[in-house]
Amino acid sequence: MTLKENLEISGCKLTKPMKKQHLPEKICVICDRPFTWRKKWKTVWDDVKYCSERCRRAPKKNKDGK
Ligand SMILES: [Zn+2]
Repeated sequence: MTLKENLEISGCKLTKPMKKQHLPEKICVICDRPFTWRKKWKTVWDDVKYCSERCRRAPKKNKDGK
């Protein structure tokens, strides 16, 4: 294998798009929008209820709130 061929092959590997993984989704309890699993939630995914820090800090909807 020549150096050029070698470079082309490794370059191809780098630029090839990664196969899209199917990641789990949830609906945010605050904004009702779907959000996708993130690496940082790997260990706490079952407990994740909010799409973002902003929603997490947002006041929960009250039943009697008008
Ligand atoms: Zn949200």
